[in-house]
Amino acid sequence: MKQITVISGKGGTGKTSLTAALSTIIRNKVIADCDVDAPDLHLLLNPKIKKTMVFHGLKLAERDVEKCIRCMKCYENCRFDAINEELDIDEDKCEGCGVCSYVCPVDAISMVDRDTGFIYTSETRFGPFVYGILKTAEEASGKLVSMVRESAIALARDKNMDMIIIDGPPGTGCPVIASLSGVDIALIVTEPTKSGIHDMERVLKVVEHFGVKPLVCINKYDLNIENSLKIEEFCKRNKIEVVGKISFDERFTTALINGKSIVEYDAECEATRKIFDMWSRIKGRLE
Ligand code: SF4
Ligand code: SF4
Repeated sequence: MKQITVISGKGGTGKTSLTAALSTIIRNKVIADCDVDAPDLHLLLNPKIKKTMVFHGLKLAERDVEKCIRCMKCYENCRFDAINEELDIDEDKCEGCGVCSYVCPVDAISMVDRDTGFIYTSETRFGPFVYGILKTAEEASGKLVSMVRESAIALARDKNMDMIIIDGPPGTGCPVIASLSGVDIALIVTEPTKSGIHDMERVLKVVEHFGVKPLVCINKYDLNIENSLKIEEFCKRNKIEVVGKISFDERFTTALINGKSIVEYDAECEATRKIFDMWSRIKGRLE
């Protein structure tokens, strides 16, 4: 089974639109949205949910008032200021480190699971789709990304699919690392701005560190030809293949507003043709 992660150094490069377009083209695959902090692929894919799993991220400290002898050790040792002088535990501040439970002389504090988010397994018009959503202000999304991927792999095996396409999180942090481990190809979507080039270079370091083959797609290529050429030169110098150069096209936005991928919205337009070309190049690198 092959796995491709579509990533970008930051949000707003058109990563999700391109993932949706590729999902329209690729057959016999599972789609996974690992952009768990800001998932939006489900808005376009209109999934019919088949299974919901609760995701437990950080643990939460819980004090047993009956056992507590009010020695204040937990209050004194919590370095996140999550416990006040009345010994109430602030759910939003508790980082689940367990120190309070460790120092408590009478075992009055236990660490309990808290519902941090959800993992949904669903069916869409493009095939099976797994996505994760974190509750507002929750963290630990790297762990949620890994769980979304595990569910996608299990689903792909179950349904005899030969590919997983992953909409990865933006940036270079822990969720990105979780979305890259063990994949065959990282398709890096970049745009021809100064910050776009810088972000691409940063994310490339992560991709290469994990031994994943990088391929680059320059989105909105014609918005700044000079910068696009710089990206191409950089890639050439570093022996990275630019598999796609997609021109700016307002149809991407119109398609999204209409709940469609660009390929569905206009099967004949230049962007759609370029995306088909890009997919045949990616496929060539997978074989
Ligand atoms: S688990 Fe850590 S952060 Fe949470 S209340 Fe206890 S000491 Fe503070
Ligand atoms: S450390 Fe245990 S006994 Fe002491 S105040 Fe905290 S909960 Fe109560």
